[in-house]
Amino acid sequence: MKKTLALIVISALIMVLAACGSNGGNGSGTETNGAGSGSDGGGKTGSVGISMPTKSSERWVGDGANMKKEFEALGYSVDLQYAEDVIENQVSQIENMITKGVQVLVIASIDGESLTDVLQKAADENIKVIAYDRLIKNTEHVSYYATFDNFKVGVLQASYLEEKLGLKDGKGPFNIELFAGSPDDNNAYFFFDGAMSVLQPYIEGGKLVVKSGQTSMEQVATLRWDGATAQSRMDNLLSANYADDTVHAVLSPYDGISIGIISSLKGVGYGSGDKPMPIISGQDAELASVKSIIAGEQTSTVFKDTRELAKVAVSMAEAVLKGEEAEVNDTETYDNGVKVVPSYLLEPVSVDKENYKAVLVDSGYYTEGDLK
Ligand code: BGC
Repeated sequence: MKKTLALIVISALIMVLAACGSNGGNGSGTETNGAGSGSDGGGKTGSVGISMPTKSSERWVGDGANMKKEFEALGYSVDLQYAEDVIENQVSQIENMITKGVQVLVIASIDGESLTDVLQKAADENIKVIAYDRLIKNTEHVSYYATFDNFKVGVLQASYLEEKLGLKDGKGPFNIELFAGSPDDNNAYFFFDGAMSVLQPYIEGGKLVVKSGQTSMEQVATLRWDGATAQSRMDNLLSANYADDTVHAVLSPYDGISIGIISSLKGVGYGSGDKPMPIISGQDAELASVKSIIAGEQTSTVFKDTRELAKVAVSMAEAVLKGEEAEVNDTETYDNGVKVVPSYLLEPVSVDKENYKAVLVDSGYYTEGDLK
């Protein structure tokens, strides 16, 4: 009787120890390398590496937190890292995750073209990769891409300007300046192309005038989506072209850039007295920018529900871990130079002072209190 009890206790201990060993996520010890498929006996537990670009923008903080929560609820251990917009940090964080033996990587890249080598290392260890929000280029080792309809984001931004200026009703000419996102982020081209698909005809028809003459992606891009870079470009645009003239609209691809543009405009008196703020777009519905919209400074933003994106990415990760096919709704758009990455595109939504409550508060994305 005593012997059987002892045996039960010992085998229970062995099981506990074995479980700890295969979990791989806790502590920094010597985890099993290689994340061999089947190493966790087909159970739910496994480990995921989430590599995010930066904490300097709220959206990525939310994205990371949402995915971590979702994965943990499914029993995965999660290694979530932010690279503070430094490419080398991101590469070494991913290398670390590979060494730790994660089974799947979810990556929002800083520079979509600089992960080719590290993803080869992941592939050598049979670790699967999901591209999150931003396309990872020049590698076959990316299974799926979870994102939004990025061309449509640009269309929404520009259509908003078109509507508010009354361009469809033949109003104009108006002065506009154009900003785009980071040239190393594939999304930036989609946003800009989407926006220009709406604006170009008005520029050609003379109803929109870009006084700086800067209309190509190379001229209007903003490295790393940096607000301060945008602010200093806007300072230059204003002093070179608008000393005796007024800017009526600014195409801005992202809320953080809009904030930089707005400070520059305020610096020369826009938003006060007889100098109204131009119409300014944005993206991400970040808290500071929604407040700015409510205060009548920024005009609109594009909301992309990162809670939904996290869910899509998590289900893609689960599918690859189980060796199943993930649900996609686009198999044509995102050619990364080596293959067309099967994608799931979510719908972006335009937000302004009129609809922010319905879109952002009623959906629980923000509370009324957040926006005070
Ligand atoms: C994302 C945008 C974001 C931008 C700057 C893009 O890749 O799709 O939502 O505004 O990066 O972080």
